[in-house]
Amino acid sequence: MQNKRDDSSKKGDKVKKLLGMTLDELKAVATEVGLPRFAAKQMAEWIYGKHVRSIEEMTNLSLKGRSALAKHYEIGCVPPSDVQQSTDGTAKYLFPTESGQQVECVYIPDDDRATLCVSSQAGCRMGCRFCMTGRQGFGGNLSATDILNQVYSVPGSEKLTNIVFMGQGEPMDNLDAVLRATQLLTAPDGWAWSPKRITVSTVGVRKGVERFLQESDCHVAVSLHNPFPEERLAMMPAEKAFGLLDLLALLRKQDWSHQRRLSFEYIVFGGLNDSERHARELVRLLAPIECRVNLIRFHEIPDSPYHGASEEKMVWLRDYLTHHGVTTTIRASRGQDIFAACGLLHSRTPQPPLGGA
Ligand code: SF4
Repeated sequence: MQNKRDDSSKKGDKVKKLLGMTLDELKAVATEVGLPRFAAKQMAEWIYGKHVRSIEEMTNLSLKGRSALAKHYEIGCVPPSDVQQSTDGTAKYLFPTESGQQVECVYIPDDDRATLCVSSQAGCRMGCRFCMTGRQGFGGNLSATDILNQVYSVPGSEKLTNIVFMGQGEPMDNLDAVLRATQLLTAPDGWAWSPKRITVSTVGVRKGVERFLQESDCHVAVSLHNPFPEERLAMMPAEKAFGLLDLLALLRKQDWSHQRRLSFEYIVFGGLNDSERHARELVRLLAPIECRVNLIRFHEIPDSPYHGASEEKMVWLRDYLTHHGVTTTIRASRGQDIFAACGLLHSRTPQPPLGGA
C-alpha cells in the first residue's frame, strides 16, 4: 500500500480525529489547544484541501501550536489494509473502521473520470436476497470519519471525479454520518465538491429520504428492482417497512427539474423482473417522474436461486422503457473478477473476499 498511516499509532486512546470535523468544530479545537481561531481555517485547508497525513505537515501553524494540537488530536486517516485489482482497472480496497470492522470500497477509473463506491455501514440490515452484503448481516454503522477516510486514503484519491454511496450498507439507515460526510465533501471549507458529483443510494427508507432531500443537494438513486410491491418484497424484505409506492408518492412531490438527479437502479433478473408486464408497470410508475433508470447486470452469487437476464432482454427492456418515455441506460459492469461489482461486496474475511469461495 502506498499511503502512510498518520501519527495515530504513537498515541493513546483519547486522541481525537480531526478528519470529519466541520469548520466550527475545528474552531472549538483551536480554542481548546490555545491556537487562534483563524487556525481552524488553516487546519481545514490542510485536511480537506491538501490531504495531509500528520499534524506536523501543517507548517503554517506555529511549532508550539502543532505540538499542543498533536497531544490530543490526530488527522485520523488510515490506509487500506488490502487491495484486489481487476483486469479492467477497477480496484477493491479493504479499510479498517474505528470500531474494528472492515469495509470495502471500489475505485473505478474510466478515461478521464474516476468513481469511488463507498460503504456507509459494515454489512447491512436490509437483507436483500440477491446481495452478498445483505447475507453478511449487520456489523455496525460507520462514522463520518470512516466514510471520509475511504475518500481520503484510497490510492488515486486526487483523481476522483465522482463518489457513489453504493457500497456496503443502506446510507439512509446511517443518515447522520452520511449527511455529515456529504456536507463535508461539498462544504466550501471542506472538499468543496459540487453535490452533482455525489450520488447516495437507498432501498427507500422513507423518513431518511425525506430528511436527505431537505438537507442535501446530492443526487439520489433508488434501488427499485421490481415495480410490484409483493414481488419486490420477496426479493427485498425492506419493502415491508419502506414500501415503494409510498416512496414514489414522496418523490413525485419533489422538483427534479433542476440540479439534483433522481435515478432508479434496476438489477435485471432472468424470468423474475424482465417481462413486458414489469416493463409496462415501470412505465406507469416512472414516466410521470423526471428520472432515469439504470439497468444493471446481475452477477451470480453462490447458493442463490437468482440469475441474470440475457443480453437481448436487457437491450429489449432498455429500448421499451426509453420508447415509452423513461430515459434508460444499461450500466457497464466493472470489477466482476474481483467481486467488486454491484451486490458483491462483503467484508467478513479480508482475502479472498467471499468467505474463501
Ligand atoms: S443491496 Fe444495498 S440495501 Fe440491499 S442488502 Fe445489499 S447493501 Fe443492503
